[in-house]
Amino acid sequence: MNIDDLAKGIAAGERRALARGITLIESGREDHRAQATELLAALPKGREALRIGLSGTPGVGKSTFIESFGMMLIGRGLKVAVLAIDPSSSRSGGSILGDKTRMDLLSRERDAFIRPSPSQTHLGGVARRTREAVTLCEAAGFDVVLIETVGVGQSETVVAEMSDVFMLLLAPAGGDELQGVKRGIMEMADIIVINKADGDLKPAASRTCADYAGALRLLRKRPQDPKGFPKAMMVSALEENGLDEAWAEVEALTEWRRAEGFWQHARAAQARYWFEQAVKQALLAQLEKPKAKAALTELSDRVAQGLADPTKAAQDFVTQLDR
Ligand code: GDP
Repeated sequence: MNIDDLAKGIAAGERRALARGITLIESGREDHRAQATELLAALPKGREALRIGLSGTPGVGKSTFIESFGMMLIGRGLKVAVLAIDPSSSRSGGSILGDKTRMDLLSRERDAFIRPSPSQTHLGGVARRTREAVTLCEAAGFDVVLIETVGVGQSETVVAEMSDVFMLLLAPAGGDELQGVKRGIMEMADIIVINKADGDLKPAASRTCADYAGALRLLRKRPQDPKGFPKAMMVSALEENGLDEAWAEVEALTEWRRAEGFWQHARAAQARYWFEQAVKQALLAQLEKPKAKAALTELSDRVAQGLADPTKAAQDFVTQLDR
């Protein structure tokens, strides 16, 4: 495969090239990793998409929302890419977005690109691949990249680390309880979107929205938030209500953050974070090399038999690795 040609294809916005690039990035083969690194380096720099993280437990209407929100954005002349982080995909035997019929209309749009989650159990690996896929989508000229995740804890943090705006999608609650949403996840949210505000569910949606608006007001004020943020709002993905308003909120928030320098600051911090992650992973990969593995086993056997002190043995091992 000619990496320069692939990079040119992606830069020209060719969807097939983009798909091939992402496949390359997702590959675990060592030679593919090397090519993927080469590809990332060959891409044009400086193209930025708005990265929106979207989280919510199964059934709240993520795919319905992405479909109608995405179609609305395309209607505004924007190009939309959808990626997913799904650490549980190995359990369900497929990726959450694997079934394209979930976003039937969007998947048929020329200006949309939908990519299922890489099927991998290790969240760190999925995270890196998704971040690299985001970079590819940006290079391909997409205006908005939606990164979807199922609400299962750790993956939100990972998505928040690669998004400009983090949206938490919720469904109307039966009672007045906050739906067991962990405080940590609420603290990450820029906009809490109560979906299904339609028909019989509308009163419950209003209550849930008011509950969350109240809960958000109690959170510690973050410097990166303009007045009124983080906020809770209602939409109906099914009836396509509130979508323009949701986009207006995203735009208001990002414009403010750009003007105040928070956007640039967050991007720089993210780049730093991903660099550090890459260094850590490269170091961990060193441990997988046969020689290192053998030395590790030998030392760990000695430790197990009480022949060596764990701390000292670890130090010896690192010194050996340095050499
Ligand atoms: P996901 O698992 O979060 O991707 O949720 P889906 O998008 O698959 O939606 C789960 C169910 O909720 C489906 O039966 C949808 O038709 C329904 N749903 C999604 N959005 C809405 C909405 O805005 N209003 C109503 N009433 N139902 C919705």
